[in-house]
Amino acid sequence: MEVSSTIAEFRRTREKLVGSVGFVPTMGYLHEGHLSLVRQARRENDRIVVSIFVNPAQFGPQEDFAQYPRDTKQDLNLLEKEGADVVFMPLVKDMYPTHFSTWVDVEGVAARLEGAVRPGHFRGVATVVAKLFNIVKPYRAYFGQKDAQQAVVIRRMVSDLNMDLKVLVAPTVRELNGLAMSSRNIYLSSTERQSATILWRSLCLAKQLWERGEQDAEHLRVEMTKLIQKERLAHIDYISIAEPETLEELAKIEGSALVSLAVRIGKTRLIDNILLEES
Ligand code: AMP
Repeated sequence: MEVSSTIAEFRRTREKLVGSVGFVPTMGYLHEGHLSLVRQARRENDRIVVSIFVNPAQFGPQEDFAQYPRDTKQDLNLLEKEGADVVFMPLVKDMYPTHFSTWVDVEGVAARLEGAVRPGHFRGVATVVAKLFNIVKPYRAYFGQKDAQQAVVIRRMVSDLNMDLKVLVAPTVRELNGLAMSSRNIYLSSTERQSATILWRSLCLAKQLWERGEQDAEHLRVEMTKLIQKERLAHIDYISIAEPETLEELAKIEGSALVSLAVRIGKTRLIDNILLEES
């Protein structure tokens, strides 16, 4: 496995990669969620590239960029075991040199949900992913359903800017208790970790009600809110029931719907979602 920590070095390595390249962009502190993407990429491509880059541009000034968990040694061990071919870990000053001034702004879908609460977040995400695509030149790129809106934003960008690659979205990997795996779960105490299962429990409740024929989005939202409010440590940022592609809020669920939510457990903000779709 090769590790490149500059763009120039990576480009030299990239030249030598033959066949289809599958790419998994990450911010590191890898867990089974990330590794499931790496495994899918491994199955579907000749070579795989994983990037580890904690992207300052997608963190707000009050957010956790400095505290974001990092463990490069452990990440490299895990990626070696999964058979990654190249790990790209650029430095911030290489990705955002002085005078950097070009940004990718996806309108519409990026302004809702997370975008409304975290201004500038998706501008940072879209910009870094566009840069990484230009550097890595993958045939396929892999993203997690865990960050459902991010996947929608990236698909929109790839389509709008005619980027020549395929975007694949893999299912959310969860702990046995339903908690979606996330690097940020490390911030949770053991009591908070238990409380954090409320996200998944409330999503399951929404699914159950919908399966029993409930189509009124407001009713689902009310029932989810009631359940979450029973959890003392949980504070709701938003609950959204939206059309999965446009992310426009739905009043009535007629086709499929993306139910997503952001909840603060103590000081930690968690997101999760479930797709309601007729089989
Ligand atoms: P991150 O390192 O948090 O930026 O995540 C890198 C990629 O892994 C993103 O495409 C995430 O959506 C995906 N990912 C993170 N957590 C999970 C999970 N629990 N299951 C599946 N994919 C995930």
